[in-house]
Amino acid sequence: MSAVDDLTFDDIFDAFEFEEDGPPAKPVEPKSEDVSFDDYEPRFPNARTDLRCGDCGAPMEARPSKYGCFYGCTRWPDCKGTHGARLDGTPLGTPADKATREARIRAHYVFDKVWKEGIRNRRDAYRWMREAMGLSASQAHISRFDLDQCDHLMALVFESFPSLHTRHSRLIWEQAYDDD
Ligand SMILES: [Zn+2]
Repeated sequence: MSAVDDLTFDDIFDAFEFEEDGPPAKPVEPKSEDVSFDDYEPRFPNARTDLRCGDCGAPMEARPSKYGCFYGCTRWPDCKGTHGARLDGTPLGTPADKATREARIRAHYVFDKVWKEGIRNRRDAYRWMREAMGLSASQAHISRFDLDQCDHLMALVFESFPSLHTRHSRLIWEQAYDDD
C-alpha cells in the first residue's frame, strides 16, 4: 500500500482544485431516472476537443457522469485515462500521466498543510508558492505542475516550514524520490 492510498477522497479532489477560480461547482444529478444529462442544453458549453490523454496521447472527449462532466480517453476501454472537469465542461488543469497525477496529489497534500495547519492563511500560502517557485498566478496551480515542479514544491515546503516535516509527510516525500 502506497502513501497515496492513504489519502482521502478530499485530498484527491483538492488536487484538482483551482486556487484562483475557487472550488469546482457542486455536481448536480438528474431529478429523476427519466431525465438524463442529454436533456441539459447546452450540455457542456465549455467542453474542449483538443485535450490529449495523459496516459496514451489519444484525444479525450467530454462525457456525462452522475457527478457531472469528465473527460475520457477515446480509446476506452483499451485506455482508462480520465481527467476532471467542471460542470460546464471546463477541464481542471492539464491531463497528466499516472506518475504525474500521483505526484500532484502528494505535492498538494504537503503544500495544503501550510494553510490547513495555520502557518499561513490560504491566500498567503499560494502567494508564498508563487514567489518561491517564480510562477505567475496562472501558472501557480498544482493541477498544472509537471513531476519536477511537484518535487520542487515539496522540497521548498519542507525547507521553509520544517515543522511540517513530520513522519507522515516524510513518507510521502521519500516516496516521491523513491519511485519503484
Ligand atoms: Zn488514453
